[in-house]
Amino acid sequence: MAPFKHRVLSGMQPTGNLHLGNYLGAMVNWIKMQETHETLYCVVDLHAITQPQSVWGGPKELHRATLDVTAAFIACGLDPQKSILFNQSQVPEHAELAWIFNCVARLGWLDRMTQFKEKAGKDKERASVGLYDYPVLMAADILIYHATHVPVGEDQKQHLELTRDIAIKFNNDFGVEFFPITEPVIMGPATRVMSLRDGTKKMSKSDTSDLSRINLTDSADDIARKIRKAKTDADAIPSEEAGLKGRPEADNLIGIYAALADRPVAGVLQEFGGGQFSRLKEALAELAVARIAPIAGEMVRLRADPGHVEAILKDGAERARAIAQPIMKQTKRIVGFVDA
Ligand code: ATP
Ligand code: MG
Repeated sequence: MAPFKHRVLSGMQPTGNLHLGNYLGAMVNWIKMQETHETLYCVVDLHAITQPQSVWGGPKELHRATLDVTAAFIACGLDPQKSILFNQSQVPEHAELAWIFNCVARLGWLDRMTQFKEKAGKDKERASVGLYDYPVLMAADILIYHATHVPVGEDQKQHLELTRDIAIKFNNDFGVEFFPITEPVIMGPATRVMSLRDGTKKMSKSDTSDLSRINLTDSADDIARKIRKAKTDADAIPSEEAGLKGRPEADNLIGIYAALADRPVAGVLQEFGGGQFSRLKEALAELAVARIAPIAGEMVRLRADPGHVEAILKDGAERARAIAQPIMKQTKRIVGFVDA
């Protein structure tokens, strides 16, 4: 395959406020990569509406959350000069390419997607067609820019494999080497941050319990309170990694501490091993407040000027479209559509 120019794309849904899992699993890598790569980061509003309005809150809330997630991008350290920041719905080529990919992807591939099973729940007959088709739109989000690298949390691994399958099948079906085979970038000690209330469940924006997650908008008091209340077990903290097996809550808190402190898990266990959770929680609260609370402060400043955030999205959408349009045009030619 011909080498593709390195280009990075990733996105977050405006289904509520960003949380520590989004930050440690994805955002820290996004920030690093903007220094070394061409980067596009989007607020995926088309994905948000795959869920019922009761999840994303309806039109007013979607509008607010889109601006807030963009503000969070900037508050965390994404620079609109270095990265293209935009919202997905403003670049129609995402949805246009998704249609073509709908005709490339196979039902059997989508039937295996675990995110659909988790989000649709028991009553899958009532789930939207969009929720089922989510991974195909995600493939289009990535491939409409010929993105070669996609930094995400561990939960998105399966969708990225599907993106690769779609690129390979499109290239084979049409006898071209047009779409790159994208690499997932799942990096760091916290690629899967778990709920503070249940160590077997992923920390998630759409969890109904606010105590399950640390939001990037939480005050210092909220952060400390949520960590104090985090579920643990009755045993002491182990001194070695093997001792974390079968103890999901302990594993999660140690992992979060290691990620925030930028230290290896083994070193953290040496320091806290043998002790009670209260000491770890105290140290973790201090660390989390120092790192997360300033983001909320910066967001308050950005929220006071929504016109500024809107202008950033508008500029980003124009820059993103300039990349997407020629790729869409070429895709249509490959498929055989008459260029009228
Ligand atoms: P939702 O519950 O609405 O799906 P979410 O919390 O999963 O929300 P997304 O917008 O779907 O957030 O995901 C944005 C990015 O954050 C993705 O790269 C995803 O892999 C990553 N991510 C989400 N949750 C976690 C987590 N708990 N740990 C690590 N990474 C995560
Ligand atoms: Mg998600």
